[in-house]
Amino acid sequence: MPKIVIANWKLNPATHQEAKSLCSATIVEATKHANVTTVICPPFLMLSGCAALVAEAANEHIKIGAQNDFWENSGAYTGETSPQLLKDSGASYVLIGHSERRALGETDEMVNKKVIATLAVGLIPVVFVGEKEKGEARQDILIDQLSQDLAGISSEDVKKLLVVYEPVWAISSHSPVLRQGFGGHGVSSADSPESTLEAIKIMREILIKIFPEVGVDIPILYGGSVNPENAAGFLSHPEISGAVVGSASLDSEKFGKILQVSSQFD
Ligand code: 13P
Repeated sequence: MPKIVIANWKLNPATHQEAKSLCSATIVEATKHANVTTVICPPFLMLSGCAALVAEAANEHIKIGAQNDFWENSGAYTGETSPQLLKDSGASYVLIGHSERRALGETDEMVNKKVIATLAVGLIPVVFVGEKEKGEARQDILIDQLSQDLAGISSEDVKKLLVVYEPVWAISSHSPVLRQGFGGHGVSSADSPESTLEAIKIMREILIKIFPEVGVDIPILYGGSVNPENAAGFLSHPEISGAVVGSASLDSEKFGKILQVSSQFD
């Protein structure tokens, strides 16, 4: 199966001009690896511009994603962004329940509503789960998150989404402010591939329990300090369908190397 590699730019870069350059450079790298699905997730205001560059490149395996959305498509919801508008702006994927959103108050109930609304307009939800602190009762946390985040979704629909195991303590680019109140101690490194495989095994069992017919097929990705050096350790395993890359996605050369590694494990 082709790997899926997602560039989560978070609130970067600082200007439209830099975003345009980064998007163009990322497209150049992604174009070299037609057997990898590359998803670029810029901040909302840069999404349309980047989508236009992706459309120009006309490579089916390069897609645009948003970093968040809302569960209604219109109404009195000041400051929110709808799945429908994201779709109209060129997005195909939406990251939902990232720990940096959860740290700002997003609950599993909200994640669940967003997943349902995102599926309803035909976008692909990318649902993030993972424990805050290393050594926490991982299995219980994963059961809680997955069962609440995916509640009420049909087997038909759940086949369309992706799940990411992203332990909060392994994220290198968490903002210092969020770190203080939400997991980690300011120092992080990736989970080991062995531990990630254990987590993915747990998640697979949970998914099969909730969705007996299709739980086996839902792609599970890894996120948290993925870089060119450690990418093969994760992506060489068929159980790991891809990676979500934060800080290394802001350097197109580094990101290109991760795509290169991914392309070897088609
Ligand atoms: P880093 O790759 O910087 O650790 O960020 C991971 C992340 O939050 C991706 O969603």
